[in-house]
Amino acid sequence: MLAKRLPGILPDLTESESLEVASIATFAGVSQSLTCMRPFRTPHHSASLAAMIGGGLKPRPGEVSLAHRGVLLMDELPEFERRVREALREPLENYEIALARANIKVVYPADFQLIATMNPCPCGWHGHPKRACHCRAEQILTYQSRVSGPLVDRIDLQVHVTQEKEKWLDLPAGEGSAVVRKRVCLAWARQKNRQGGLNARLDDAALEAHCAMTSGAKTLLEQLMDRYDLTARSIQRVRRVSRTIADLDEQQSIDIQHLAEAFQYRFKAS
Ligand SMILES: [Zn+2]
Repeated sequence: MLAKRLPGILPDLTESESLEVASIATFAGVSQSLTCMRPFRTPHHSASLAAMIGGGLKPRPGEVSLAHRGVLLMDELPEFERRVREALREPLENYEIALARANIKVVYPADFQLIATMNPCPCGWHGHPKRACHCRAEQILTYQSRVSGPLVDRIDLQVHVTQEKEKWLDLPAGEGSAVVRKRVCLAWARQKNRQGGLNARLDDAALEAHCAMTSGAKTLLEQLMDRYDLTARSIQRVRRVSRTIADLDEQQSIDIQHLAEAFQYRFKAS
């Protein structure tokens, strides 16, 4: 349900982006009218490699390109074919996908936000306070290891969704998408005004220039680096996310609470 709300809180496509999205759809043979809504693709886990990344004699764009400038939702990620899951690494790293056939090499754009879901175990009840999980330990391990470390490393926000609270039907309604969307649009505008693009695309030099931290946040980052064995890549990813959280908070500098929030989306306390 949450994932399906995402397109509704994202800013509109610009005119050139919407032309780009429409021409990819044309190449893929998908009929689609010109729209300012960002694409939202939800391929089934039985989708073939060609359907996902593109293919055919004259290579056509696949789901990763149809989701360009929008969202690719992979529900039940471990159920997708292994080579499909591994093939995601290229577009997640380069924002495009190269398809080579005998005499042709085609490169299609594939700059999307990936949302993936998975259960804690094959039956889905592992760790549940009231329901019993009947999976064997090795089944659980095999299931969880289907999503490889390098792929997980490219996912910035990892959230465990817990059991609904008791009497959640009585809770007051949450914010509507239109309210959240206003905040998201403002945060995007801040990023574009500051550095000409989104935080997710900041390279190392731009990160130094635009991700100023308060002294408290710097100290916290040093402590976290000491305590956890963090790779340079994961530190840079945490910094980009904390920059976005600070933007949503309308703050110039990344402060302790922004960094701490970004950190807990990737690393569980141990
Ligand atoms: Zn289970």
